[in-house]
Amino acid sequence: GQALMAEAREPVRGHLMITHTHWDHIQGFPFFGPVFAEGSEWDLYAPGGRGERLEAVLSAQMQHPYFPVTLGQLAATIRYHDLGEGALTVGGVRVIAQYLNHPALTLGYRLEADGVAVVYAVDHEPHMRERAEGGGIGSTGETTLHAEDARHVAFLDGADLVIHDAQYTAEEYPEKVNWGHSPAEAAVDYALAAHVRRLALTHHDPLRDDDAVDRLVDVCRKRVRQAGGTLDVFAAAEGLTLELTRREARTTRPRRRAAASAASQSAPAHVVLIADDDPVVLELLKATLQSDAFRLYTATDGETALRIARAVRPSLILLDWLMPGLDGTEVTRALRADADPYFRDVPIVLLTAEAGAKKTKEGFASGVTDYLTKPFKAPFVRARVRAWLERVGADWDREGQSG
Ligand SMILES: [Zn+2]
Ligand SMILES: [Zn+2]
Repeated sequence: GQALMAEAREPVRGHLMITHTHWDHIQGFPFFGPVFAEGSEWDLYAPGGRGERLEAVLSAQMQHPYFPVTLGQLAATIRYHDLGEGALTVGGVRVIAQYLNHPALTLGYRLEADGVAVVYAVDHEPHMRERAEGGGIGSTGETTLHAEDARHVAFLDGADLVIHDAQYTAEEYPEKVNWGHSPAEAAVDYALAAHVRRLALTHHDPLRDDDAVDRLVDVCRKRVRQAGGTLDVFAAAEGLTLELTRREARTTRPRRRAAASAASQSAPAHVVLIADDDPVVLELLKATLQSDAFRLYTATDGETALRIARAVRPSLILLDWLMPGLDGTEVTRALRADADPYFRDVPIVLLTAEAGAKKTKEGFASGVTDYLTKPFKAPFVRARVRAWLERVGADWDREGQSG
């Protein structure tokens, strides 16, 4: 903020992309100088979901017990944008937003301008947790096992710079599964698989001192050499300035439009079907989703799940893998082959305690959209469910028409 104001001769006009509103990502906002300057204009973007609006969250942390100036008293003109997944253009920069894996609804941002691409992917945990480093990402020539990890790789694809979550080490990670962060080694694997040019490690564990960060960078560089890669890995540092130059022309793929989040408090409830023969899991999921005002249907076996799905056409289907009668993959196959084309694209998520490589391949081969690995953590379930549903609501952005 200070640097922006020192550089600018006139009030600053800018765009601020916020990945999510966990406190470590917004607590600097009330101290951001340009929002106190008369005449400056700011557009703020963050993932919007059911009942969580950016303006309300920012305003809450500036209430009187915490801060002397309220959000409404800031001198700048501020506009708030609740985003979903997709593409938009701001200030001549093409921005692609994609959901990350975190216990809050979180968007990563890919910025493309002048033939250069930069991706900011914080906070994110690998979807595949089989190996200590959250592996299976496929850096060493093997294919990416988990469809959602493959999606993350595609998001980073060919970027000139990726700034990535690297909170843990591979050694620490097994104790931190489901905390919503990456081991640095997984960040390296993603970047290698995506043929990224430079990787800046960030969001380090607060207890990691500078020497430990240096050691972590060494470990990551060694990993790149062992994979025969040319990726440049370093630790992001305050005051660091990088100049990026264009490589060769790259083709852009059409993306969904992110102009506005589909969800709002007044949106009709989403119909969600949950099938699991374990009453404890069923109750847990019901309790978790109750707070988000979904219309829930439940089943305890595959045949019933199939019957309810055909009758109510849910927006989202959560299926336990192992159930009496038809199991989760069999129900998925039946729905994907259904005469009703609605079931070709509806998100179907498999609930399983088995997240191994073989099982993962088998699940995706049956046509599931994603996995929820047991045991669950409620905030993670809520964030993932919202991400799946928000994707359904988005429209495709037509090439050259993003605005
Ligand atoms: Zn977070
Ligand atoms: Zn964070």
